Amino acid sequence: MAEQRIAPTPANFAVWFHYFAGSHDDLRNAIDLLIDHNRPFDVRTNQDLFDTYVAPQAGAVAFETSERLHALMGAAKEFLATAIADNHSQMQAISEVADQGKAGVDPKALVAQLMSELARAATRATRLEAGFAEKTRELDVIRDSLSKSEERARTDTLTGLANRRALDEFLRKAQATADWGEPLSVLLLDIDHFKTFNDNFGHGVGDQVLRLMAKVLREKVRAHDLPARYGGEELIAVLPDADLATCVEIAERIRRAIADCRITRRSTGEVLPSISISIGVAQYRSGEAISDLIERCDRALYLAKGGGRNRVVTEIELDRAGAAG
Ligand code: GH3
Ligand code: MG
Ligand code: MG
Repeated sequence: MAEQRIAPTPANFAVWFHYFAGSHDDLRNAIDLLIDHNRPFDVRTNQDLFDTYVAPQAGAVAFETSERLHALMGAAKEFLATAIADNHSQMQAISEVADQGKAGVDPKALVAQLMSELARAATRATRLEAGFAEKTRELDVIRDSLSKSEERARTDTLTGLANRRALDEFLRKAQATADWGEPLSVLLLDIDHFKTFNDNFGHGVGDQVLRLMAKVLREKVRAHDLPARYGGEELIAVLPDADLATCVEIAERIRRAIADCRITRRSTGEVLPSISISIGVAQYRSGEAISDLIERCDRALYLAKGGGRNRVVTEIELDRAGAAG
């Protein structure tokens, strides 16, 4: 990976792990072809390799889990049927003993028979209990594996933030609440001159910076806000229950925290030039489409870039700029 200048991200590791493990012929051929033709392993290519050859296998894990769940449900059904049948035969045996009592059989023999039926019932109950405990453990394992794969499907691999899918879901719910009159605001942030940074220090260091931005964003928003990766080097935070002023306050805190970050290159300890971000902020207007809200954020962000970067701009300034223009 170092030879091809590939950033050490979890997704890239997964691709190259499969390449060296030789577990995937198509992946191996695709990579060999790229190497033979001296094609660069840029972000897009790496993402395509992951999406095409590795991500579908993640789907296979979910499939396997669901297969296991089906098998377990089948076994549990059989288990219950056996328990019910056992119970019936036991009742039958006891009622036969009772009939013999009525027929005047020696009480001592009856007690001995009853004792032996009870001993058999106790053995069956113990076996049942052990069986139940084992099935419960299997269910716990399956539940864990399902919630882990659900979590993975909602998380961006590079930053660990929520991905677009999780973001869309969160926005839909937040919108429903906001339509009842609660405020809802969104901030959209974009790293300033990130292309130049990547060009100067390499994509791997760029990824490290992106992860740092994500960390700051996560730390600065409130517990019930959702920080997410919007795409590329653009991050977003959805702030339910926050009006424009509150959102600006939080955006300013994020902007300052990032401007104050001292970034050192992990491999050499070299201190890198500081990074700044620009942020666009907008508040939801009841009844509007979420895409309109994001679009206002985006235009405010664009204004922040035009105004010199390293700043927070709100939709109010958008109106002013519109009136002035
Ligand atoms: P501006 O201040 O106008 O935002 O300038 P910029 O160079 O940041 O803007 P532009 O949109 O032209 O470039 C975005 C760059 O972000 C290009 C791309 O290489 C980089 N980028 C996008 N996603 C990633 C990523 O996942 N990792 C790294 N390292 N870079 C990324
Ligand atoms: Mg950008
Ligand atoms: Mg940028």
